[in-house]
Amino acid sequence: MRPDMTEIPSLLPNLIGGEEVPAKNGLSFANLNPHNGNEICRVARSEADDVAAAVAAARAAQAEWAATPAVRRGHILHQAMNAIEARAEEIATAVAREAGKRMADSRGEVGGAVQCGRFFAGEGQRLFGRTMPSGTPNKYNMTVRQPCGVAGLIIAANTPAPNFAWKVFPALICGNGVVLKTAEDTPVSSWMMAKIAEEAGLPKGVLNVVHGLGAEAGQALVDHPGVDVLSFTGSTAVGRRIAEACGRQLKKLSLELGGKNPFVVCDDADLDHAVKWACLSAYSNAGQRCAAGSRFLVFESVYEEFRDKLIAATEQQKAGVEDECDLGPVINERQLANMLNAIEGAKSRGAKIVAGGHRLGEAGFYLAPTVIEGAEPADEISQTELFGPVAKLYRVRDFAHALEMANDHPYGLTACIHTRSVDRALAFSHAVQAGATVVNAGTYGSEPHMPFGGPKQSGNGSREPGTEALDVYSELKDIYLNVDPAKL
Ligand code: NAD
Repeated sequence: MRPDMTEIPSLLPNLIGGEEVPAKNGLSFANLNPHNGNEICRVARSEADDVAAAVAAARAAQAEWAATPAVRRGHILHQAMNAIEARAEEIATAVAREAGKRMADSRGEVGGAVQCGRFFAGEGQRLFGRTMPSGTPNKYNMTVRQPCGVAGLIIAANTPAPNFAWKVFPALICGNGVVLKTAEDTPVSSWMMAKIAEEAGLPKGVLNVVHGLGAEAGQALVDHPGVDVLSFTGSTAVGRRIAEACGRQLKKLSLELGGKNPFVVCDDADLDHAVKWACLSAYSNAGQRCAAGSRFLVFESVYEEFRDKLIAATEQQKAGVEDECDLGPVINERQLANMLNAIEGAKSRGAKIVAGGHRLGEAGFYLAPTVIEGAEPADEISQTELFGPVAKLYRVRDFAHALEMANDHPYGLTACIHTRSVDRALAFSHAVQAGATVVNAGTYGSEPHMPFGGPKQSGNGSREPGTEALDVYSELKDIYLNVDPAKL
């Protein structure tokens, strides 16, 4: 092992107040490599008292962190990014193992996390408020940003390093103490990045990491009265429960939830280009993206040609974690079983599985990339997010029909259109009900300085990251300065 390599402990501890501690109840659960089902380590199975200790540590450290000038907080984040970048290979190796990814993808994700951290480190030199005129003479108005206090962060497992970065770094630059509840399937990389940040100069207790199950540690963090802002990335079903709990407490809340993203193929599209992007959109990261292409709305006149090309390309997809592979496994056995059930259900209601639809191999949690046609738009498989490599094909008559089907759906995260017409591209981009639209590529394409999120059941109106994330993690305060001309 290289001297800078952190060995993954056999029992992954929490990081609370700068100390590595097991769950107080002594319990743990297994972290498995989804590529082969092998155990990587055991993980602290925290409960409410561990979460309470982490919130107390964050609260204790927060006042001094908030009193550190934002510019200086940014310097510390820059140091943390240098340290994370220096150990990117080590973190990427952990991501590749715990999430079952290619090293190329894992490296890219760690690079994305560092970019995000550098962006927010730079925001320490800005953290803009505004100055505004007053209606009263000799009065000067301004707004300043102040930290919320303690930020409770809960993340999903699909892209562990960016998921960590998108929430932790904006929360820190705003001067909050942080308690992160890691995703149960990918806790190792979060623990590593937090430890490295601390070793690079982040004061102890400012960033606390608690592992555990959603219903136990996650729920405890949501319910804790000492958490001033809660930010959650995960499924719409869990997000709805969290919103109810936060609503009762009037707790500030940001929800980044699911998608069932439409991918429109017009009759003037470059079909080979569209098929290439359809595969990337639906299958890369094993379809485990909130922004994955899911509902393929294809003009009737090119439907058969697009379908046949997509089936051929789907059958060429190589499953595995080597760098020449196209897609890896889904995150766990339960997710795989859910998808196989959903596919069987759709089949029993008349849909046709024209590619894939079955498990690949025995050891890992692989689903063959799947193409389904003939499902009704109102069918469960058309309405429910699967979070796996499953493309559903629908025929549409024309542009208006495509737009209607794209919008007639509970989700609104991302959308894309393939067309050579600037009129269609612009009209679609404006009219589709989505937080992000893409022309002639995949349904995704987020960058750390851009806001991400969507309307309808894809969230609750907030946007992260980008400067918009500063609105989640800070409170605005108005300051009115009054000058007395008599005293001049
Ligand atoms: P999930 O909702 O099951 O779990 C997400 C996180 O919430 C995990 O850390 C889990 O432990 C925790 N959790 C579960 N139940 C909880 C509870 N009762 N209280 C508090 N926390 C709880 O989601 P998942 O299957 O892990 O992730 C996939 C989902 O995440 C998909 O719906 C996907 O679209 C969404 N997602 C959204 C974005 C976005 O930016 N909009 C990004 C990535 C993933």
